[in-house]
Amino acid sequence: MRKWGISLCSVNIAQTLVNETGSFQEIANSPELVYMFRDGLGTDTKYVSRLASIYRERRQIRFHLLQKIQAFLNMNGHRFRVMDCMHRVGAEFHVKRNGNGHAYYSGIHVCGSVWLCPVCSHRIAGFRRSEFQKASEKGYSAMLITFTMQHGKGEALDKLLSVLNESVRSLKGGRWWQSFRDEWNIKAYATSLEITLSQVNGWHPHKHMVIYCDKAQGELDAEKIKAEILKRYAELMKKNKRYVSGTYGIDVSVADDAVGNYVSKWGIWNEMSQAPLKIGRGESITPFELAEAAAAGIPFAVQAFQEYAEATYGKRQIVWSHGARELFGLGAERSDVDIAQGDPDDETIITLHGSWWRIIRAHDVMGELLEIAERAGANGVMQFLNSLSPPD
Ligand SMILES: [Zn+2]
Repeated sequence: MRKWGISLCSVNIAQTLVNETGSFQEIANSPELVYMFRDGLGTDTKYVSRLASIYRERRQIRFHLLQKIQAFLNMNGHRFRVMDCMHRVGAEFHVKRNGNGHAYYSGIHVCGSVWLCPVCSHRIAGFRRSEFQKASEKGYSAMLITFTMQHGKGEALDKLLSVLNESVRSLKGGRWWQSFRDEWNIKAYATSLEITLSQVNGWHPHKHMVIYCDKAQGELDAEKIKAEILKRYAELMKKNKRYVSGTYGIDVSVADDAVGNYVSKWGIWNEMSQAPLKIGRGESITPFELAEAAAAGIPFAVQAFQEYAEATYGKRQIVWSHGARELFGLGAERSDVDIAQGDPDDETIITLHGSWWRIIRAHDVMGELLEIAERAGANGVMQFLNSLSPPD
């Protein structure tokens, strides 16, 4: 993946992207760009309006994909919360605007699923990312460690996940970790679970750990850290009859820009970036790309997304170490559902009678209405709603 510094202004980046890729379509497929727009950088109207259209397009894709997932996901004994997302509404609901100027619905039932819901996971990722950024601004030196494992096509995701989880959990327990923690003066860390899939190599669950140390960045010796962790991690993996390679098992980065890059884009792996038909056999895809492929009726994808839904059931995506939230002033942890519901302090653009929701859903304009609310406010929303025919 190419690395683009997000500290540059978005206009420069957008120009670089145009020069590098030469095609607007490719730019529209860049999740980095969506991220940059979301954070409101840049002032050049030409690029900003392009970015705005990408943002709108992606929002609509998320709402449409949610409906597709609800259509093909088989409950198989589990009550997946995503099945009810954006379905139920009370006597009234609101269109609100968050701090970034983006509209969202409040008062509509949300599932808060980080794994299965493109609408909720997008909202939650934005919030979790801001926490990550806040932690990273506290002045500690940071290292980024990636844990992967050997796997093959056809291996069950839930088995791979339990081996990975157990090995990383064991690593953080016991005497070895204590001495590692003392050696590098570790103050806090956060672990993030990520899952990709390729048709050639199967499921690829991996964990990223951002570790904050009370040491000068220059004192963090990546080679030494890698050798220490690799030795321990390989021992733990061996108990599960897994081989960890010196080249691929662990990656350690202590470079400021690499860690900053990871933190500033946290959660973006979850954004869809490719249409299912463009995905090559050997390529790694994200769960929501898999969902798009499943919705397009590709049989392997339907089965694989189902497996993914069951394997991630009840799993946490991001976990902060004990005491980390206090250290970074992050306050009490908010649940995923709570974050997906939005912030009570956000501005209300318009409050609508619950009966409108059925009409909005029937016309499949959930994304469009938010766009109108952002652009034309309450009057625009009413004008638009009055132009819709009542549902049959
Ligand atoms: Zn949801």
